[in-house]
Amino acid sequence: MDLANAQKVLQDYYGYDDFRTGQKKLISAVLNGQNALGIMPTGGGKSLCYQIPGILLNGTAIIISPLISLMKDQVDSLHTLGIKATYINSSLTNEEYDERMALLREGYFDFIYVAPERFDNSYFRSIIEQLQISFIAFDEAHCISQWGHDFRPSYRSVIQTLEQINHIPLRLALTATATTEVIQDIQKLLNIDDQSVVNTGFYRENLHFHLVKGQNKQDFLFNYLSDHKQESGIIYAPTRKLVDTIHAQLIEKGYRVAYYHAGLSEDVRRQQQNKFINDEVEIMVATNAFGMGIDKSNVRYVIHHSLPMNIEAYYQEAGRAGRDGEPSDCILLFSGQDSHLPKFFIEQSELDEEKKALEYKKLRAMINYCHTEICLPRYILDYFEEDQKHDDCGHCSNCTRSGEKVDRTRDAQMVLSCVMRMEQRFGTGLTAKVLKGSKDKKVKQFQLDHLSTYGLMKQRTEKEITNFIHFLVAENYLTTGDQKYPILKLTPKAADVLKNNMKVWMHQTEIQQNEAVDFDRKLFEQMRLLRKELADQDGVPPYIIFSDATLKELCRFLPENKTEMLQIKGIGLKKFDSYGQAFLELIQLKTSDQPSHLISYQLYSEGNPIELIAKKRDIQAQTVATHLFKAYQEGGTINWQDFFDDEIEDTVLKAYHTSGEPYLKSIKELVHDEIDYTMIKAVLIKNDLLEEE
Ligand code: ADP
Ligand code: MG
Ligand code: ZN
Repeated sequence: MDLANAQKVLQDYYGYDDFRTGQKKLISAVLNGQNALGIMPTGGGKSLCYQIPGILLNGTAIIISPLISLMKDQVDSLHTLGIKATYINSSLTNEEYDERMALLREGYFDFIYVAPERFDNSYFRSIIEQLQISFIAFDEAHCISQWGHDFRPSYRSVIQTLEQINHIPLRLALTATATTEVIQDIQKLLNIDDQSVVNTGFYRENLHFHLVKGQNKQDFLFNYLSDHKQESGIIYAPTRKLVDTIHAQLIEKGYRVAYYHAGLSEDVRRQQQNKFINDEVEIMVATNAFGMGIDKSNVRYVIHHSLPMNIEAYYQEAGRAGRDGEPSDCILLFSGQDSHLPKFFIEQSELDEEKKALEYKKLRAMINYCHTEICLPRYILDYFEEDQKHDDCGHCSNCTRSGEKVDRTRDAQMVLSCVMRMEQRFGTGLTAKVLKGSKDKKVKQFQLDHLSTYGLMKQRTEKEITNFIHFLVAENYLTTGDQKYPILKLTPKAADVLKNNMKVWMHQTEIQQNEAVDFDRKLFEQMRLLRKELADQDGVPPYIIFSDATLKELCRFLPENKTEMLQIKGIGLKKFDSYGQAFLELIQLKTSDQPSHLISYQLYSEGNPIELIAKKRDIQAQTVATHLFKAYQEGGTINWQDFFDDEIEDTVLKAYHTSGEPYLKSIKELVHDEIDYTMIKAVLIKNDLLEEE
């Protein structure tokens, strides 16, 4: 079957223009009747790889999925696209079950989602045997393999059962995490040849990795959150107690926040999780018990408050950010003592010595991540795919730490010599007290006030000194060793610093906003509210209706009719029918704000530059432009030089004639980045080329 049909489905149903890497190859394999395996990162678009063939091929596609919550999510989202799909699992009432089975028997569904255990049910099997099946897809296919970290025996045993159902020839497997062993295992079990394995790697360009060390974690956290108030994010903490504490602190500060850990009842956990998924709270504070089966696409940041156990866990948890492909932050807060807790967990575990040694090795790699100078995602990818060469990402905290660094060699020498004078027998707290010149009982008791380093840093606060010691530990000038009570000891690097052979630089980690807010924030907020309202009406999570990426495009393009709206990424025909009109009305309300545009025009006529008008009126420059265009169309005058020069006008007009369409978006794709929508719109209006409703 040819791919033109697949392309059309991509457009009409999903509202996307192009396939992502790997999708085309997998889809065409299935359409051509070949078993296939896709390894694509989280958010890479694996669902589409079975959904599009399922829509195009005759018969019902069976999707094997490990978790009830994932099934529900997928089915909800297929329904918003107008596709017949359902899931059959233990959460159904008897009536629901009977009804769905009856429809299934009639061949009504294009898709059914089931857990592998469903095939143990002989009634279900007998129905499947009589049904026309298009293919069977294994989502999260790494569960098949014993080598995988989420091995599920039923995922493996179902294969044999399926072999007895002789008319299911075609299999598709999809996963985001697969080592070479797991890949080979899946291939063998599902009979997939090498040509039909599509591996796009693990790299996710939209994730911005940051490492924050030697800074007070709480200060950092509060600062970061106050800069990201409207955005959804997850904060992972290592213990229930810390989760409770952070949760309480954030509530106190007025944040909308949920929490989740194994100490809460199942009901409370479900309720907290739903609040987060349905955008009723922005923040989730949780232990690593949270996150399995969460497909929420608009998670803008994942902050780890402490060191994860290994890179595998870290990448999986951090990877819950940015499923919608929008830029997102993955931040790890590291301080020197953080390795004690994971070590404790390993010690307390019931693993045998060999397995423990392996866990220690993995932890070591995780600690090294906190000390590496190389690009952070590159470090992670090198860990997973040793044999491949990876490029620098250009936006992690190691790639971007350029100018801002401070020479702290003098301070470091004071601390290090103090640790030496204290004979490497004490912890951070007491060392800070000595440097501060504190009259603390213990200082007296051990006669530390007689040391030459006593009071050496008295101009600084004890907290500053403590933080600086944490920094020296994080940078491996000091180590706290493996003992029960962390005691400061010098490392070989410390000797070099004391001998003046090495300088100590402190880099300031500053996390930039990930994107220029080149759209109207207020409108975006209004759209989020509208989306939430529609989601509640339909009983689905907001991100199933439109992703954040789609809302942002709407704010940028401000489409004024159906044709323009269908050009927006993520709006297909069915979604337009269900939700388009409501959003069009909201946009119209915004742009046709009657007296408002005249106020802007008045200010403009008085000679105020556009930026200043925007500032004065506390609106986006883009909105001011819309106001002025409206005034122009009503007979006002505009000095077009304020928007573009001859060269830009020329470029835009050429693009307009090339594209043959009067749509901003098609023109924008043809011109260089510096030409923004406002300029394009201005050129079209000046030349009387913009179609009006
Ligand atoms: P995965 O299962 O690989 O983690 P999903 O299938 O859930 O990822 O897709 C992640 C997001 O990417 C979804 O919002 C999906 O609609 C979107 N997406 C998938 N394919 C494309 C595409 N070709 N163009 C734009 N967005 C896409
Ligand atoms: Mg998926
Ligand atoms: Zn980088």
